Amino acid sequence: MEKGLKIRLYPNKNQISLLNIIFGHARFVYNYFLDYSKRTKDYKYTNWSKILTDLKNSDSTSFLKNADKFALQNSLRNLATAYANFFSKRTNEPVFKKKHNEQSYRTNFTNNNIVLYENSIKLPKLGNVKCKYGKDIQKNKIISVTIKLLKSGIYEASIIYECEEMMLPKTGNSVGIDLGVRKLITTSDGNTYISDLDIDRINNKIRKEQRRLSRCELHSKNYNKQRKKLAKVYQYKDNYMLDTIHKATKAIVEKYDVIYMEDLDIKDLIKKQKLKIHKRKMLLSSLGQITTLLKYKCECYGKELKKIERYYPSSQTCSNCGKTYKVGKSETYRCPHCKLIIDRDYNAAINILNYGLAHN
Ligand SMILES: [Zn+2]
Repeated sequence: MEKGLKIRLYPNKNQISLLNIIFGHARFVYNYFLDYSKRTKDYKYTNWSKILTDLKNSDSTSFLKNADKFALQNSLRNLATAYANFFSKRTNEPVFKKKHNEQSYRTNFTNNNIVLYENSIKLPKLGNVKCKYGKDIQKNKIISVTIKLLKSGIYEASIIYECEEMMLPKTGNSVGIDLGVRKLITTSDGNTYISDLDIDRINNKIRKEQRRLSRCELHSKNYNKQRKKLAKVYQYKDNYMLDTIHKATKAIVEKYDVIYMEDLDIKDLIKKQKLKIHKRKMLLSSLGQITTLLKYKCECYGKELKKIERYYPSSQTCSNCGKTYKVGKSETYRCPHCKLIIDRDYNAAINILNYGLAHN
């Protein structure tokens, strides 16, 4: 099974100038063959590949010899894919790559040319580049790495690696999970993961930087500086949330063999709440990621994810006496029948587990 991992790179000055050269070469090749295919209507990768060899051997373009050879080949492959998508009407026609847009190239693993260490990654032509979060996949076989310079000025590597199915030890435990907007995940044994306070904290930061940007004179030096800063906060938000969701979902599949959750319409769940647009968007993507990653991790680690019927009233039912009661918007469930007082999401999670166990 192939998996992907994104890590942030911290290249030194020398590596930055080398990276600029490789980005430039990869872009040159892409644009050269885009122009060539537009003129000649020759869209064949194998033909392009032959011409690329000629280019490397001709005087005016012999600089290409110095580039990471996989980066150039992959530029051609990307162009071929872009055309394939265009011809099958999935995307627009490929366009020329520009220097001021996001820069990237992809390199492939061969003969240990790429090695991941705990705090650095060895890459062809660049040597060891400082990075974060290397240790998770050190033992896995790397297939390819895409190196990117994002608009925010951040360097990033997306690593594709082979992962053998890693069965996690069975624990004999089952759990019910309630997804919500205040606490994103609540489990039937009373644990909560990811609260909306995290989301508010990051959204406030974004709003603050946006306000600062709106006070800058358009396209002034400060404006550009502030725009980069804002892009960085957005980047931080994506990384932080994804990282938190990865950790939470991993913790859950480690702890339980069978995970029950409601077959939710996330859009519908969020629509019912009065939320600011930033928060709405963030919740929509976060809850989506939680469901996707839970499903994926269960498959990967040999655990089971079971969905229970969408219209089961998990938050209206008392987990103690089983009678139903319309709870309204309150965060606490107070049962008028048996006098139980319990957190609303915790109550729902217990009901989901009980329903799941009873209907299997
Ligand atoms: Zn009750």
